[in-house]
Amino acid sequence: MHSKVIIIGSGPSGHTAAIYAARANLEPVLFEGMMAGGVAPGGQLTTTTEVENFPGFPAGITGSELTDKFREQSERFGTQIITETITRVDLSSRPFKLWREDADGDSDEPDTCDSLIVATGATAKRLNIAGEDKYWQRGMSACAVCDGAAPLFRNKPLVVIGGGDSACEEATFLTKYASHVYIAVRRDAFRASNIMAKRAINHPKITVLWNTHVIEAKGDDRVLTHVVLQDAKTKETRNLDVSGLFYAIGHTPNTAFLNGQLTTDETGYLVVKPGTSLTNVQGVFAAGDVHDKRYRQAITAAGSGCMAALDAEKYLEELEAEAQEKASKL
Ligand code: FAD
Ligand code: NDP
Repeated sequence: MHSKVIIIGSGPSGHTAAIYAARANLEPVLFEGMMAGGVAPGGQLTTTTEVENFPGFPAGITGSELTDKFREQSERFGTQIITETITRVDLSSRPFKLWREDADGDSDEPDTCDSLIVATGATAKRLNIAGEDKYWQRGMSACAVCDGAAPLFRNKPLVVIGGGDSACEEATFLTKYASHVYIAVRRDAFRASNIMAKRAINHPKITVLWNTHVIEAKGDDRVLTHVVLQDAKTKETRNLDVSGLFYAIGHTPNTAFLNGQLTTDETGYLVVKPGTSLTNVQGVFAAGDVHDKRYRQAITAAGSGCMAALDAEKYLEELEAEAQEKASKL
């Protein structure tokens, strides 16, 4: 199958790109993934409960309802949505080639396109400790900014795991709601920048637990009530009463399938020309968390999806103009 625009990814960035591309009559095809990276079609928002900071929903909306609405809006303007995962691409020549996952690996015949929007997102790292399956979203989360204000966490002790800027920022953020916040750091130093680390260390509502692993989440069968800590040096264990556990141990951008064909930074995030969605390959655009490790919000992802579609539209117009000029010279 050949398309003018293919979009890989089904979060807010992919669907916003699809809505814009479809309204521009580019007849986009969107691969929404089949549990790509362990996440359902719709992306990270399908893993959360209430979304309260996406404009247009003053009473809030569940993550799954919001992603269903994105999908419905993409389809309304004619986006073709395919529930398959792209496993491999060849961006070395035009048209670009993409292979879908099938039972024995990759499809034999590639799909092709004139322009490509990569909107595959990023996956928050988790530790998969004992009890995580049971208490995920019942006190455990990978996004303090998103979930921290929930009633479950108000005036309760909470723990953040990680030692980077995210852990410090999220712990500081959580002090607005929590009675106290612990940061469990696996070694005796922060990775975070000095200023962020100092802000956390000096905060009266934050205690840093150095050399500490969190090895188990426990609760009352309904919600999380405490965690089991282990001293990284002595291996001694103890319980800590908390109503919330937040992972802040980094994200993995979903770029492995690109096999190094697009420029990434040292942590795998796609690099774009500042202020645009342009990657190092002409005709290939990036949108959403796959190129944004700073903001990582649904609304910023949606905004960059719009940018990618507008950039793709402009690129296709230029291709068309070039082709017409060539034809007129013949
Ligand atoms: P993603 O949402 O990451 O979606 C990309 C999706 O594309 C993947 O999940 C997968 O389904 C698909 N895909 C990936 N690879 C492939 C492939 N190779 N082929 C085909 N398909 C593929 N933000 C807010 O603004 N408000 C909130 O309340 C909020 N709550 C959150 C709660 C949690 C628990 C988490 C983890 C995040 C939350 N966020 C929230 C952040 C928000 O979800 C992300 O910033 C946003 O979803 C990023 O959108 P995206 O389009 O870049 O990609
Ligand atoms: P980082 O990769 O910087 O830090 C991850 C932290 O998690 C490290 O302290 C690491 O420990 C710890 N960690 C990793 N794996 C485990 C594990 N299995 N068990 C326990 N701890 C673990 O990720 P961040 O998300 O914090 O930051 C990503 C980028 O975003 C950075 O460049 C950061 O500067 C930037 N950022 C900037 C902000 C700002 O300026 N306002 C806010 C948030 C992020 P260890 O150190 O031992 O490896």
